Amino acid sequence: NVILAIESSCDETSAAVCIDGLIKSNVIATQAIHSKYGGVVPELASRAHQQAIAPVVMEALERAGVNKTDLTAVAFTQGPGLLGALLVGASFAKSLALGLNIPLLGVNHMKAHVLAHFIEHPRPKFPFLCLTVSGGHTQIVRVDDYLDMTVLGQTKDDAVGEAFDKCAKIMGIAYPGGPIIDRLAKEGNPDRFEFSKTDMPDLDYSFSGIKTSFLYFTQNQSQKDSNFVENNKHDLAASIQKHLIAMLMDKLTKAAKQEGINQIAIAGGVSANSGLRQTLIEAGETHGWEVFIPKFEYCTDNAAMIAMTAYYQAANMVFASLDSSPMPRMKF
Ligand code: ATP
Ligand code: MG
Ligand code: FE
Repeated sequence: NVILAIESSCDETSAAVCIDGLIKSNVIATQAIHSKYGGVVPELASRAHQQAIAPVVMEALERAGVNKTDLTAVAFTQGPGLLGALLVGASFAKSLALGLNIPLLGVNHMKAHVLAHFIEHPRPKFPFLCLTVSGGHTQIVRVDDYLDMTVLGQTKDDAVGEAFDKCAKIMGIAYPGGPIIDRLAKEGNPDRFEFSKTDMPDLDYSFSGIKTSFLYFTQNQSQKDSNFVENNKHDLAASIQKHLIAMLMDKLTKAAKQEGINQIAIAGGVSANSGLRQTLIEAGETHGWEVFIPKFEYCTDNAAMIAMTAYYQAANMVFASLDSSPMPRMKF
């Protein structure tokens, strides 16, 4: 069982090979072009995917030591994501499946972020909760089996990764600013500044209010002192990061209590955040949770997680037809 998987939902072109459930290669080409535009530009993303896809796939096959003809199935990210970006991966995967006469697997990107936990050990035991935090999503997912997941709560507006990136942009940091906020926060005082948080009912989130509060605060201070942001960047980063993490942890703790689950995982790009990782470990000690944190390369977008999901789909005969199309708003 040799699966080639392709990920092209946003600004990473990635390909991975999975043999009998083990990841043998995971090649990721990150598009640098977007940084000067302050966010991902869809047309530029599609073009960059078109340029990168063939070499990235070749390299994934080579690193895994397999030939095209060894493949038994090919998987692609069907959604959610940018339509033009998804189309590149979908077309490439379909032509391979057609040419090699092997089955096609369409994978949900958000489920794949969760199943990144099955690439290596230790693995969470079912049922577990996964806080999936990325550039486009913020979800608390209850996972009862590989292919049996339920969203218990999610953001009603911005994703938490978007909040990190937008606050970074307000501070004059290039896209994606999340990792820079993380780095600056390490040398800052997280208790220096307060921002107003929006509380949502149940297990849902809202991140647009805190972003606006951050914007008004920095604008106000900058009117009094034009060097305010530059002179306080470490404390600003540490404070906003602390607030965002507190909001995430608040609902995650509530969900764990409500479901009576103590296997707690995080996934998605923001799970690379060192503050969130540390806070989760500490919360695990406090609440008696067993916590699961992916390796950095499996937090942000990668094809290994797509391959892993495809492996479980193949085992359950969940294949896609050759005329299936990308689904930018693909539901769970
Ligand atoms: P989605 O998965 O919702 O479709 P996406 O694929 O664009 O969105 P990912 O690649 O999973 O998202 O994650 C990217 C996001 O993660 C960006 O918002 C980025 O700023 C954020 N991010 C990455 N590393 C860190 C970090 N160390 N601290 C905070 N945020 C981070
Ligand atoms: Mg990305
Ligand atoms: Fe993602």
